[in-house]
Formats: sequence, structure tokens, C-alpha cells
Amino acid sequence: MVPMNRFRSVACIAGAVIALTAVSMLTPFVWSRAHAQQADVKQLRLQLLSVGGIAYQLIGGGGSSVILLRESEVVLIDSKPRGWGKAILETIARVTDLPVTTAINTHADLDHVGGQLDIPSITTIVAHENTAAAMRTMPEFAGAGAKGLPNTTVGKQLSLFEGVDRVDLYYFGAGHTNGDLVVVLPEHRIAYLGDLFPGKMAPEVHAARGGRIVALVDTLAAIVAEIKGVERVVASRDSGPAPGVPRGSFGNINTWADLVEYGAFTRDFLQAVRTAKAEGQTPDQALARVTALSAKYPGYDLQRARQSIEVIYGELK
Ligand SMILES: [Zn+2]
Repeated sequence: MVPMNRFRSVACIAGAVIALTAVSMLTPFVWSRAHAQQADVKQLRLQLLSVGGIAYQLIGGGGSSVILLRESEVVLIDSKPRGWGKAILETIARVTDLPVTTAINTHADLDHVGGQLDIPSITTIVAHENTAAAMRTMPEFAGAGAKGLPNTTVGKQLSLFEGVDRVDLYYFGAGHTNGDLVVVLPEHRIAYLGDLFPGKMAPEVHAARGGRIVALVDTLAAIVAEIKGVERVVASRDSGPAPGVPRGSFGNINTWADLVEYGAFTRDFLQAVRTAKAEGQTPDQALARVTALSAKYPGYDLQRARQSIEVIYGELK
């Protein structure tokens, strides 16, 4: 039995850093202070009556997070940097007062796992075994910080929960790090890949954690070939609604086709650099080749391309 008052009414969500990504599209009642001060204001409240399988993207704080509202808990997928836990909880409290008890970590980078150190209600932390091993060596998770370490690890694949809450976790090999999980909400046809898919931009790996762009290309190809049924893909880098797209719509969420294109883009990116290096060109000359990819892949952010080229030169030694 779920008491009716368990779910807080949503009084104001205007300007919130939540972008609704789920199938259960609730349009919150929005009011402004100016409206509230008017004597004849007609105010409504929105009471969330049914949870279970409602997913949101939490935008802000550097890396993306996804939350899944279940009947009895909130699942937090990536927790942003240390110090962001309070903001995460305050934002979640706008739609539910259920506790965050499960965290899923896509990889060990602190901008994806630091925030869980600020959330004492978390009791289950799920990550790939290589990510768990990496976190055990990080000073943030030593001593009292050990409470933020994963206590459930994934090898190749693990499924959590059932029905609308189901979460499928996959490991396809090294990419951004050596422990990147692909998170799929199959009932919602949504996937979140952590920094394997930052959005439409130059590929980025964390070499100190075992990431390799050469491996990333193959890992993305395997993901695209093997995962079926996903329609929307949440990018890991901050992105608000695209220009002209109303807040709260699905318009700023990438599609599966975008991920497929990103896989092709990273392969072409690698090939361009490989060719440049084979011809004895400098990284700056390789950058010209990569920049020429913009004709085939318009809209890609290449600000970090020079850095990625250096990484590939190192990998191809
Ligand atoms: Zn990362």
C-alpha cells in the first residue's frame, strides 16, 4: 500500500534542471512568483499518483545523470561530481520523496561517481568490476569514503528489477575507460552510455583508466550491432534543449540513429588520423583532415579534436 502523500506535489518546476525523458509525460503545472502575487490567481497542484518506471535526465553539474522512479525507491544512474549530491536530492524531491537507495555507475570518473558520497540513503551501488577496482584505488573512496564504493559488480551483463523498472547493464569492452557500462531501460527504449557517448563531439577517452580510442571504435560498433529496440539515447555531456525545442519535450534527446552515426563518426575520425600518421603528417595536419569530416557530419563539436588526435597518435605508436 502506497500512502497518497508519499509523492510531493509538483508546485513549480519552471527552470528546474530536470528534462523529462520518459514515456510517462507529465506536464507540470508551472507558475511564477509574479503570478502567485496576483490576487485572482487560480492555483493548481499536481500530485504524482503512480510511479514505477518514470525516468528523468538530470542535466547540470558536468556529467548527465538519469533517475528512475520505482514504487519504493529512486535509482540514480551516475551521480555527478562530489558536492552535487544535495542538489540531486533537492531536484528529485520536486517529484517524489522516495529515497535514493540504488546507484549505478557507468564508469569511475569522479564527475560521474563523486555525488554518491553525499547521499547517505544509497545502499546498493552497481558498477562494472573494472570500475569498482579503479574506485578502490581512488583517495575519495578511502576511509569513510568507502561507503561510496560499488557493492554489486557486473561482468558482461546484469539485469536489475522487472517490468517497467527493468534495467539492463552491458559491458562491451574498453572504450572511454576499461569499465564502461551501457545502461538500457528496455521498457522505455532508452539507453545511457556514460562517456562512451558524450553527444555529437570528438571522442574522448580516459587513458589512465584504460580508455583507448582505438578500442572505443570497436566497442561502439558492437553496441550498435547487438543492442536492439532502443529509440532514445541520453548523451553524457550537459545539454539543455536544442534551440527552438520546448523544455520538457523529447527534442533534445538523441535518437538511436544519432548513436549509430556517432559510431561511424568515431571510426572515420580514427581512420583520418591513422592515415595522417601513416603519411608522416603532424597532429595539426591530422586536424585538418578531421575538420574536413564536418562536411559528412555537420553539427559535431570538434573543440577537443586536437587533444583526441594526440591520444590516437600515442595509441598508434
Ligand atoms: Zn568519463
